[in-house]
Parts: sequence; structure tokens; C-alpha cells
Amino acid sequence: MDEKYVFDCPHSSGCGGCSYNNIAYEKQLEKKEGRIRGLFAQLPGDKSFKPDRIVAAACPYHYRNKVHGVLGYRRSKIICGLYSEDSHKLVNVTDCLIEDEVASAVIAGVAELAGPFKYTIFDEDKGRGFLRHVLVRVAHSRGEKKLLVVIVTALKEFPRKNDFVKALTAKFPMIESIVWNYNPRRTSMVLSDNNTVIYGPGYIVDDMLGLRFAISAGSFYQVNHEGAEKMYSLAREFAGLTGKERVLDAYCGTGTIGMLMCDRAESVTGVELNESAVRDAVFNKKLNKIKNYRVLCADATKYITDLRGKDAFDVVIMDPPRAGSTPAFIDAVVRSKVRKVVYISCNPETLVRDLRLFIKGGFVLKKAVPIDMFPGTSHVEVCCLLEQLKSC
Ligand code: SAH
Repeated sequence: MDEKYVFDCPHSSGCGGCSYNNIAYEKQLEKKEGRIRGLFAQLPGDKSFKPDRIVAAACPYHYRNKVHGVLGYRRSKIICGLYSEDSHKLVNVTDCLIEDEVASAVIAGVAELAGPFKYTIFDEDKGRGFLRHVLVRVAHSRGEKKLLVVIVTALKEFPRKNDFVKALTAKFPMIESIVWNYNPRRTSMVLSDNNTVIYGPGYIVDDMLGLRFAISAGSFYQVNHEGAEKMYSLAREFAGLTGKERVLDAYCGTGTIGMLMCDRAESVTGVELNESAVRDAVFNKKLNKIKNYRVLCADATKYITDLRGKDAFDVVIMDPPRAGSTPAFIDAVVRSKVRKVVYISCNPETLVRDLRLFIKGGFVLKKAVPIDMFPGTSHVEVCCLLEQLKSC
């Protein structure tokens, strides 16, 4: 690993963004690997099994393609940054090591324009003021960076909106779209459901392993493009599809992983609880003209248990949220004719809890590869391959 990645973040004592922000990258990787090794050593079954070495980021800096800035005042000057972890103090974040640099510059650009446009900044305590947050999302499309900017305001009127849009896009021509989000509520949620597209189509499109995925203001999308590419490629390799398999993409989000399997599967069924993610998946399916993918809005456990052991799938891909899956979901898979499970997790503790149930149910853990999708933080992604060895 290159020694230049020292991670000497200028905000390490203030900003609540990352917890490993003053630990050299090599050390961060060692810590994550050690944690994974310790957890996997507790699993029943083959005691000689070891997870692979962690897949490091090619460059651990400036990977975050979703960047959020809070606007505020410091000595009557407008600043933008993040709240510190233990208080409600706004830290003026100017040189974040993990945020996309263009996205950070756009957020600073909005703060700079606020003065000349005479925009007031929202005061959380008094509940007064106009500008609140800026959220920037970044996509790579045909080799170029494209940005979606979301301006969050606490007031219903947006004075001189068109001039503001002109000024911001003149300064940052890579802005593809701007969305105005009106959020007057006292809540920690950055966005409300009240979106108005004020420039461009309201979304950006990211090229990912030959497919194209739309990202709108509130859609879920992996925050590290390079890490996601590695993770999705590994999931494809683990699934080892031949073109004949019926695949279940459980907890599918906007359908990325499942759609990337479609060219090698007979059919892929995505199951997702969040309605807006399902709408995004339907949009992505059309965008990519995929015929053998369908997405259902349902609870993954309810969906699979309702099948009552019907022989519906050969391979299961699952990428649950941090809480992991459920014993009932795993039990239904174990009792079915599914031969292969690719389990992707962003929480090693719940992953190992769930793997234990798969192993008890007759599955064998073949591979576990940690991927460092979140340098600077303690988070780590793990991609696992499980195979059913007993004959059905
Ligand atoms: N595979 C996706 C990310 C999935 S994140 C990608 O790489 O883009 C986990 C997803 O599980 C979220 O979209 C969340 O809405 C969904 N989810 C959470 N609980 C669920 C449940 N009980 N049933 C189905 N989906 C669920």
C-alpha cells in the first residue's frame, strides 16, 4: 500500500463524518481485516476456513459520490460543513479527504452565492431563514462527471430562482440537474418528499459495468463507485451463472446487482420493501432495456415464506440492510432447492449471525471477501459465497 495515504484529515477532532480519519490507510485496512477474521473464527463448520485479504481501494481519498453540506453562520460569514459528532456545532469542512472534490466545491459555491443573492441561512434554534442544506450526487457518464444538486430550503418561496440556477451552472458546467427540496420540518432528515426540478431532468445517470443507473435526489446508490464495481463483479463471479438460472435478488434496492446478472440468467426477480426504490428499479430496467428482470415491492421474508418451498429459484443474491436478514428468510432458503447464495453485507456482525444459520442448515461457506468501500470510516463490506452440498 502506498505510504502517501496517511489520512491526516484537518477536521479529525471536530467533524463527525468519519471515525478513522487520522489513521494511516494501511492501518485502517489491518483493523478491518482483524475484525473480520475474529468474527469469522467464531463460525461453526470448517475451522480451516479463512476470509480473503481485504480488497483495498485503489485510492482511498475523495471517493464519496454523495456529499451533504449544512449551511450556517460563523461570525456572520456563511459557512458550510457538517455537525460535529457529539454536539450540534457546525464544523466548517473545507478539505474533506473522502468527499468528491467537485461536489465539495459546488457546496462551497452555493454558500458563496448566498451572500450576493441576499439569501438568509436557516437557524435551527429560531426556526427562521431560507437556505438549509445542499446535497450533491455525482455520476460518471461516458467518461464525464455529471452532478445532481439538491438545494434544501425552509421557505416555500425561492427568490430569484432562475438567476441563481444560471449563476450556479455557469460556475459549474458539469451540473446536469438541480432539484429544489422544500423541507421546513424540524427533523434530522435532510430531504422531505417535496421535490421540484428547477434545472435539467431531475436525475443523473451513472455508467456501471456496462449498464446505466439513474440517481435521483433520494435514491439509494452505493457511495463509492469504484468499490461498488469491485463488489458487483465479485457477486457476479460468485453466482457463476450459466444462462439457465432463476435468480432471486433479495433486498434489491434500485436493482443494480440483479440487473448486472441478467445477461447470464434465465430470469432475475428483485424484492424490495421501499416503494421509491422499486420505482427506481423499474426505471433502470427500462433504461437498460432488460427483459428478464422483474421487481416486486414486498418484505423479503414474507415473499420467500409465501412461496412455501415452491421450487422457484436456483440462486439467491442477498444484500440486506445493516440489521441483516431474518431466521425465517434463511430457513426458507435452506429448505428450498436453492444451491447457491451470494450474501453481501455492510455489517459483519449481523452477517456472521446469519451465516451461522445457513451453515447449520447445511450450506457450506466457500468464500468471504472483505471489500473496503468506505476508507476513513470503520465500515466494511463483505461478499460471501455459500453452497448447498446436500442433494435436494
Ligand atoms: N443491492 C442494493 C442495495 C441494497 S441496500 C445496491 O447495491 O444498490 C438494502 C435494501 O434493502 C434497501 O433498499 C432497503 O430498502 C431494503 N430492505 C430493507 N428491509 C427490507 C425487507 N424487509 N424486505 C425487502 N427489502 C428490504
